[in-house]
Amino acid sequence: MTGAGQTAIADARQTAAARPMRTLTLLGDRKIEVVDAAPPPAPAAGQVQIAIKAIGLNHIDVWGWRGMAFAKRKLPLIVGVEASGEIVAVGPEVTSSKIGDRVVAYGGLTCGTCRACREGRDNLCENVGGIMGFHVDGFARDLINMPARLVVPVPAGVSFRDAACAPVAFATVQHMLFDNAKLEPGETILVQAGGSGIGTTAIKLAKAIGCTVITTVGDDDKAQKAKALGADHVINYRTERFEGVVRKLTAKKGVDVAFEHVGPDTFNGSLLCLKRGGRLVTCGSTSGQSTTINLFQLYLQQYRIFGSFGASMRNIRESLAKMASGLTPVIDTEVALADFERGLARLESRQVFGKIIVLF
Ligand SMILES: [Zn+2]
Repeated sequence: MTGAGQTAIADARQTAAARPMRTLTLLGDRKIEVVDAAPPPAPAAGQVQIAIKAIGLNHIDVWGWRGMAFAKRKLPLIVGVEASGEIVAVGPEVTSSKIGDRVVAYGGLTCGTCRACREGRDNLCENVGGIMGFHVDGFARDLINMPARLVVPVPAGVSFRDAACAPVAFATVQHMLFDNAKLEPGETILVQAGGSGIGTTAIKLAKAIGCTVITTVGDDDKAQKAKALGADHVINYRTERFEGVVRKLTAKKGVDVAFEHVGPDTFNGSLLCLKRGGRLVTCGSTSGQSTTINLFQLYLQQYRIFGSFGASMRNIRESLAKMASGLTPVIDTEVALADFERGLARLESRQVFGKIIVLF
C-alpha cells in the first residue's frame, strides 16, 4: 500500500474515533434529547463493545426528579435500561463472545462475586454498581462497553427489535410469575393494566402455560386487543369495579395470583381479588408510593405478597428462548432515533398497547 493510502486509512480511523456518538440523554424532568457524546474507548480486559441496534423504552426512561428523590443519580443521564445490539470489538481475556455476536446485556452492574451473584440471584447483588439508564448511563447510544459476563446471546430467529424487550420487560415478568409467584398451569391470574408492556407480556406468558387470565384495561379498544392476545376475561376498569367482576368470574373464590404494578389505585383491590392463600406479586407503583393494607385480611386470608425488581441472567436467557419459540413481545410502535419524541409521547399516552422500540 502506498504511503498516501495508509494516511487515508489513518485519517478515516481518526475521523471515526472523533465522530460524536449519538445518545438519548435525560436533561431534566421529562426532557430527553439526542445529545452527542464521545464514543467509548477500545474495550478493556473482560469487556466487549456493543453497537446498539434497538432499545425498549420504559417509564423509567422518562422519570425526572419528580417522585424519585430516593434515587441517587445525577443528570444529564443517558437513558435506556434495555437494548439489543451486535458486538463490534472484544477486549483482552474475553472468550465468551466474538465480533458479530447478536446480544443483549444485563441492565445492572452486578459484582459477579457476592453470594447472590454466585447463586444466580443477580438482582439481589450486594455490591451492585447501579442500574443502567437509571443510576448510571444506560444503553441509548450508538456504542457501549459492557463486561462480557453480563452479555447474553440472542438466539437465531429473534429480531433485534424483539430481543430489546428481553432484559427488562420480558425477564421481569418471567421472574415475577415463575420465580416469585410460582404460577402453575391451570391457575387463574389477574393481570392489572393488561395493555402495558409488562401487562401484555404477563398475559402471553400466563396463557402459554394454560392459565385462565383476567385482565384490566382502560378502554374498549384495548379490551379488544387484550382479548386477541388470549386474555379470557377483560375488564374495563373505567366502567366496572374490577373487584366485583373478578368475584363473579371466579364464583366468589378469587384468583390464585394477582400481577400488580399500578400501585395504590389498585393494590388493595388486587388483594381482595385473591383466594385464600393467594399470591400478589408487584414490580411497580405508577399511581403513587404508599398505601395502607388491612393486616387482619392479610393474615386471616394467608396472602403472600412478593416485591419484585428486575430479573436474573437466567430469566433473560429464558425470555429469549421463549421468543425463539414464537412467544414474541407485543410491539406498539417502532420509531427511528431521530423520531424518538413520538415514541416518548406515545409511551406517556393512554393509547399505548405493548412496547415502544427506538431503533438505532
Ligand atoms: Zn454481586
